Amino acid sequence: MTTATKTDFEPVIGLEVHVQLKTRSKMLCGCAVQFGSPANSLTCPVCLGLPGALPMVNRLAVEYGIRVGLALNCQIAHRVKFDRKNYFYPDLPKGYQISQYDEPLCFDGELQLPLMDQAGNPKICRITRAHLEEDAGKSIHMETGTLVDLNRAGTPLIEIVGGPDLRSPEEAYVYLTTLKRNLSYLGVSDLSMEKGSLRCDANVSIRPRGQENFGVRSEIKNLNSFRAVRSALEFEIRRHARVLEGGGKLSQETRLWDEDKLETRSLRSKEEATDYRFFPDPDLTAFDVPRPWVDQVRATLPEMPEKRLLRFLHDHKLNRADAEWLVSDRNVADFFEACVALHDNPRKVAPWVVTELGHELNERNASIGDLKITPAAVVELIQLLESGKLNNITAKEVFRDMVASGEGASAVARRLNKLIEQDSGEVDRAIAEVLAEFKDAAVADLRAGKQAALGFLVGQAMRKLRGKANPKELGPKIEAAVKDS
Ligand SMILES: [Zn+2]
Repeated sequence: MTTATKTDFEPVIGLEVHVQLKTRSKMLCGCAVQFGSPANSLTCPVCLGLPGALPMVNRLAVEYGIRVGLALNCQIAHRVKFDRKNYFYPDLPKGYQISQYDEPLCFDGELQLPLMDQAGNPKICRITRAHLEEDAGKSIHMETGTLVDLNRAGTPLIEIVGGPDLRSPEEAYVYLTTLKRNLSYLGVSDLSMEKGSLRCDANVSIRPRGQENFGVRSEIKNLNSFRAVRSALEFEIRRHARVLEGGGKLSQETRLWDEDKLETRSLRSKEEATDYRFFPDPDLTAFDVPRPWVDQVRATLPEMPEKRLLRFLHDHKLNRADAEWLVSDRNVADFFEACVALHDNPRKVAPWVVTELGHELNERNASIGDLKITPAAVVELIQLLESGKLNNITAKEVFRDMVASGEGASAVARRLNKLIEQDSGEVDRAIAEVLAEFKDAAVADLRAGKQAALGFLVGQAMRKLRGKANPKELGPKIEAAVKDS
């Protein structure tokens, strides 16, 4: 990153990520968790904060929390204790949020980032803690005033607090994509920033390189995409550097990212934990987390991407870029493995999934579940290519059709009339025609030893055969025919 400053500053970044857990009902009442329902239709006395209503903990929310913690290599607390975090906001009808203060459900974890140091070791970012809490409602600002929708109030959240271990906006971006990737393997959340089921706040400070103490930090809120996180951090780092270089002083504050103006602006001075007057919630007594339960949850964890990556590198002998791309989406990696189960050469399968399928997913902005193509069809296509019934070009055409139609490779190849015929009569006739046509030009050149002419003749013969031939076989046939003539 370029900053026009004289001092060499080092950024220190830590991210807090809120993830909505995809339980059927809310964390402390039986109301449904659903996005896009009519305002305030999913509410009850508990999530409306009516006096005397008593909350009850959703077991599955705690289980999902444990699942997230284990996947992030965290310790799991021996008991669950909830606290009240007191503050006033119109979309928080109780006047406090139920959260976890001094005893988070998960702590002391780490996330391995695909950023290698010179020795080839991945960068590790600590996960300080991950705790459960309830979401607030939503304020909808209109011209005529502000409306409050409490459908979201009480939705279970897990807040994942990363250590101050990231040293650039780019590392922060990689942290977020890696965290999202790993969480996607767990199936505990939609992870949609658009729908607000994944939200991120960024803490950033800078210090002269070599200094051990942290500088004064700002917390940036209102970050609506991973790109916004990166841009906001870049802006904030430049702002800090300018203030310090100009002899000014920074104050600890919360700032909002303005996506239109591409700048942050001050919202309020940063509150301290003491401002919230945390205390244990008297309505929710602490309860134990038995170890057999934790072990049971651990046993249901899928193979996580870091492990899968190593297996793809060592067992399937893929290159790192391909392997990383494949494991970045659990469904894509599953699709690839389903292909490999039908074809014993993973390196032949990989380009079809990584390059061709990847291209189609990109073009259509789709996920693999949206496409009709099956692993069996991909393998059938590879086999047609290997047996010489398709060439590299026609195989790609057939592949694109398969993605759209969901049909098998042979069926598509036949429908598109791309199968290379066994009968060599057609090929011989095409070659004879081309040789007659270019007798005085390319054929003469080839006889005179100009090898470039061969490529031209192969191309002409391919055209006559409408692409239904294998150029690797045409070359020697043409050379032999020229010698004989
Ligand atoms: Zn409710």
